[in-house]
This record gives sequence, C-alpha cells and structure tokens, in this order.
Amino acid sequence: AFVEVPLGSRKVVGVVWAPSTGEIERAKTRAIIRTLDVPPMRDEMRAFLTRAASYTLTPLPTMLRLATRVPGLGDTPAVRHVYRRGSGQPVKMTDARRRVLNALEEYGELNFTLRELVEQAGVSASVVKGLLEHGAVVAAQAPKDKPLPHLDPTLSGKRLNKEQAEAADQLSAQIRTGSYGATLLQGITGSGKTEVYLEAIAACLRAGRQALVLLPEIALTAEFVARLEARFGAPPTEWHSGIPMSARRRIWQGVAEGKAQVTIGARSALFLPYQNLGLIVVDEEHDASYKQEEGVHYNARDMAVLRASLASAQIILASATPSLESWVNAQSGKYNRLRLTTRFGGAVLPSMRAIDMRAQKMEPNTWISPALREAVRLRLTAGEQSLLFLNRRGYAPITICRACGHQIGCPQCDARMVEHRFLRRLMCHQCGNTTAIPKLCPRCQSEDCLAPIGPGIERLREEAEAAFPDAKIAMISSDMFASARALKAQIVALSEGQAEIIIGTQLVAKGHNFPQLTLVGVIDADLGLHGGDLRACERTYQLIRQVAGRAGRSKIQGEALLQTHQPEHPVLHAILDGEEEDFWKAEAEERRAAGAPPYGRMAGIILSSPNERDVFEIGRDMARNDAPLRRIGAKIFGPAPAPIARIRGRYRVRLLIKADKSSALHSALSQWSGQFRLPSHVRLTIDIDPQSFL
Ligand code: ADP
Ligand code: ZN
Ligand code: ZN
Repeated sequence: AFVEVPLGSRKVVGVVWAPSTGEIERAKTRAIIRTLDVPPMRDEMRAFLTRAASYTLTPLPTMLRLATRVPGLGDTPAVRHVYRRGSGQPVKMTDARRRVLNALEEYGELNFTLRELVEQAGVSASVVKGLLEHGAVVAAQAPKDKPLPHLDPTLSGKRLNKEQAEAADQLSAQIRTGSYGATLLQGITGSGKTEVYLEAIAACLRAGRQALVLLPEIALTAEFVARLEARFGAPPTEWHSGIPMSARRRIWQGVAEGKAQVTIGARSALFLPYQNLGLIVVDEEHDASYKQEEGVHYNARDMAVLRASLASAQIILASATPSLESWVNAQSGKYNRLRLTTRFGGAVLPSMRAIDMRAQKMEPNTWISPALREAVRLRLTAGEQSLLFLNRRGYAPITICRACGHQIGCPQCDARMVEHRFLRRLMCHQCGNTTAIPKLCPRCQSEDCLAPIGPGIERLREEAEAAFPDAKIAMISSDMFASARALKAQIVALSEGQAEIIIGTQLVAKGHNFPQLTLVGVIDADLGLHGGDLRACERTYQLIRQVAGRAGRSKIQGEALLQTHQPEHPVLHAILDGEEEDFWKAEAEERRAAGAPPYGRMAGIILSSPNERDVFEIGRDMARNDAPLRRIGAKIFGPAPAPIARIRGRYRVRLLIKADKSSALHSALSQWSGQFRLPSHVRLTIDIDPQSFL
C-alpha cells in the first residue's frame, strides 16, 4: 500500500513493501499517518523496481522514488482554489509580473494553485497578490478532476500498403497472445512505422489493455498526439517534464486505475503504475537520450524491455537506424524483426553524395562549399526547401584572443566557453554557466582582440544570409526557444514550408516531417567520427542517415550532400552506398573482436570531488583492490582524468571495467565498490552499459 509517514518534520509518501523477514528494530519503525486512497503497488511493479535497481546497482529506495514522485498523491480530488488570467492589466509591468502572466497564458487551462503558480513563475506570493488587485489575475474554484477521454479502437485507421499491413497483422497477432515478445520494427524513414504501430496500439486497446509509447524528445509529442487523436478520436495521456505538477496526480491515478488507455511520454513514463500494460513502443529506439545520465543511470529502452517481460506485454522497438544492440538481438532471434523497405506513397529515399572538401575552394571563415551553395540555389529557384545541418549550437565553438592565444574557458569546468551571439553571451555546454562576452581578453587585457574560431549554427546562418540575401532562413536549436511550446510551434511552421532554408542541429534529425524539404546539406559529416568513443561510428551513421531521411518525403526526389574531408572513411562509404546490413555486420564484427558491448559488458565508474588529489588517490586505491573483479576475469582500466576533467568545480576521474558477457559483473561490482569508505566530499557513480564516456 501507498502510505504517508513522518520523516523528521516532513510527511513523505512510502510504500509498505513486504512482510518483515526478521526481527524488527522498534527504534527504526515509523508510525503510518494514513494509507493513501490509491490502488496498492502491484507485484509486477515491485518486481520491476527490484530488478531495475539491481541491474543498475541503484539502492532500491532511490529506484522507488522514481515511481512515487507525484506531488499530492493521495489527495482527495475536490474543489481547489486556483488562479487564472483575468481581463485586467497591471498598471506597471515588471519582470516578475510578466512571468506570472506568461505562466498563466501558457498553462492556464491547468488550474494553478497559488503554490504551483508561484513555483512555476519563480516569484513570491506577493507578486500574485499584486496582480489580483489589478484584476490581471483572478481567483477561482476548479472543479474536481475531469475524467480522462476515452479512446475508441474500433475507428478505422489509414489504409495500409501490403508491407505495412503484413507487419501490422503480425504485431496484432502477437498482442492477442497476451504474452511477452519483443520486435524490432526497422523501416526506412518515411516508410510509415508510426502507422504500423498505431494498429498494434489499436489491437492492444481492443484487448482491453494499456499502451505506452516512449518518444526521445518532448518536442515530438505535439505531432504525435495529433496523429493519435486522429486515429482514436481522443488524445492520449502525456507524461514528461512539460506536464505541470498539478496535473500529475490525476494522470498517475488514471494510469493506476487503467483509465489512461494510451500514455505517451519520456523515460519517466516507464515508472507509472499501469494496471494492465499490454504494449510498449519505443520510438527512435537508437536515440541516445533514452539513456539517463544523471541521478539514476539507466537506459529506458532496456528497462522498457524488462518492464514488458514482467508485464507479459509486447514491446516494439522502432527505428530506421536501430542501435547495434537491438540489431544484434534481432539477428540472434531474441527479438522478432519486421522490416519496411519502401517509402509510403511512392516517395523515394534521397540520393546521397559526398562533397570532397579537399577539392573545394573555400574562402576563409566559410563552411558552405561552392558545390553545396549551387545545390541550395537550384532548390531555391525551384521553390523547394533546403536544410543545412550542423550539430553545434551557438556561434562558434572556440573564442580565442588574437593577441595572446588565450582560449576562454569555463571557470568551473574543463571546457571551452561557446559564444552564443543570439543570447549575447558565452555559455559552457557542460554546466550551463553563462557570462557576458568580455571586451578585454581575460589574460592579456588587450582590447577588441577576441575572435571566434570554427562554426556553430548561428555563424552558419550568417553565412547563409550573406550567400542568399533574398531567401527566408530559419534556425532550429534547442537553446533558442523559451519553451517547448514555442519550439513546437516553430517546427510546425517550418514543416508547413514557412522557410526556404532551415539551419538546424540534431533536433531536426529526430522524426519530424518536412514535406517540402528536398535538399539536406550536412556541413561537417566528419564531426562525430573523431570522438574516440566506442559508438562514434554508429552514432555518426545513425545521425546522418536520419538527417538525410528528412529530405524528399513527398513526390519530389530528395538529395543529401555530405561535406567531408575523408570520403573514403568506411562509415561514409556505408552511408553513401546505402548497404545498411553491411554496415551493421562490419560494426558488429569489430565490437565482437574487441569484446565490446553488446558482446562484452562494461561499467563506467566516475569519482568526483572538489579535491583533485583525493579523488585520484581513491581511484588508484580502487584500481589496486580489485580482487572481486579479478575473480570473474574482469579488467579494470584507469584511473584517468575524465575527458571533461572538471565539471561544476568537481574534479572527475574515470575507471572503466570490462568483463565477459556471461560473467557475474553486477555482484562483483557491488562487492568491489562496497569495500571502500569514501569521504563525504567524494561522489561515486556507477554507470552500467555507459553510453557517454565524458
Ligand atoms: P516513419 O515513422 O516510418 O518515418 P510515418 O509513419 O511518419 O513514417 O509516415 C510518413 C508519412 O507517410 C506520414 O505523413 C504518414 O501519415 C504517411 N503515411 C504512412 N503510411 C500511410 C498510409 N498507409 N496511408 C496514408 N498515409 C500514410
Ligand atoms: Zn589575450
Ligand atoms: Zn562549465
């Protein structure tokens, strides 16, 4: 049961987990204040949390928090005092007042209480009181919870083509078995994967069970909600960071009572208390953002497979460019595989070509080659849309002093400050710290000597504006929009053709449809290949294929041009000749030879502390006392300074552990790490199956 218990001076939500297995220490027990009026936690959920905790080496209570962090859980839904936008205007507009009104305008339908409003706007209660006096804000009473809308699975969907229909039939049949099964739905961009799994969702709803769709990016939800609403006559339930606190209890309860039929959300939606989960879809399953790298380190894709198996549910992993892990699982027969090989409605994949930058004459400080410029010009004349893709936010990645060579770095991190001209600031992409662009060099004090080096998308936009002075140019990057809603609006506007040239970072690569886009220019196809990261090739391959897939989604043949200094690189070869299976086979072979995932296991250990000497010493101590790891044949590498050796003032040291696939790595890791008593200023993080090596 979910209960409320005292903890110090606070009341917190807890779960009565199981009968005691031994003596109870009276002093450590707490009296229960009350049992919450919500369905008790199901066995399946407890099994999920227990298994997820032991897989990620996370303490169970920390894992449990992911499933109970719902403000007001157990509140009786009744009338609430809420605040709405009134018709009045404050006599004097201040920044704080503006924030309150913005919050109400953006989320007004969600009925903020005073506390929520104050929290959302980041102001004090007196600001709201002031606005009340002017009638700009009015107090009201919100009715009890509105019921969740009903989705109707008997409505019919789009007419599927043969390939789609076969895939949909097979998925529906699997769902009717009522048992666990995993399927890799691998279909080229624009092949209609979404249409196919909508039919699987329909089959799941007809079976009276709930479905969950995970998306990698909240900016994608708007388009997706609209498609679901069109298919089932009502919108699904959403669960992600954009959902206000005040709406969460109702959604959580709706999910627990089985009334939320389809939930779409981010990673955290995996921890909702489904009453009868029948299907999980992980869309763009290869996306790195499924890996949570703060707090509890877990990969939502892998945890989704676990959850599905415990719930006797089906799971669909959908992607045009699957992760190597999933591809290998499909090859070995652990997952079913369904393929969609043609684009829907006769659209064809864009033709791909490399532009060999060694043969292009480039003016200094320009990045659009003459060949690419000519291609864009042709599309402009034809009235078609082009996308210039560069995976670098800001104006320039490096700011250097021409007088003394100093590069401006973040004072708290071992990272360069990146100029964001649009925001008129320098920003650290590690910690988010920003400062005004200085007039003088911080080292030699020379004036007007700071120069940007290299391109970010803001600089690329400048170049495009100069090259195409009459074109309508728009830019998309995650840092440019104040809210997810503004970003969505921009993406919708662009997909409707309100720009002739789009300049974007990886955000545009993720699943958006731009029907009028026919040319994709990748400014630096080599960018991802130099990371030295285990997945550098895989990621570059996926990203460029995904971006290129944005082109030519309608009747007109699209084209993707990749600017590169090494057209002979095997990854670029694989991208250009389109022999996907060959790429995966080669990549899999390399990993197997290296004993790397998915053929071997890895764990990353990060130690961090404000004290550089201590953290190294502890790292060395841990590396020396490795008996539990040696016993299972695991190897330990390091300690080495992490590639980003300092973040937010903490020095970071990494150890890497490699083991055979079959070894008992988890228990060895907990035995090993349990030997050390760390001083309180040292933080230890264990990252199982690390994705990022920073
Ligand atoms: P994917 O997810 O594989 O990239 P989508 O499911 O987004 O592809 O489909 C691409 C486009 O083709 C969408 O606009 C979609 O509505 C359309 N489409 C796909 N299949 C059908 C179909 N059977 N009937 C009508 N339109 C379809
Ligand atoms: Zn200087
Ligand atoms: Zn920083």
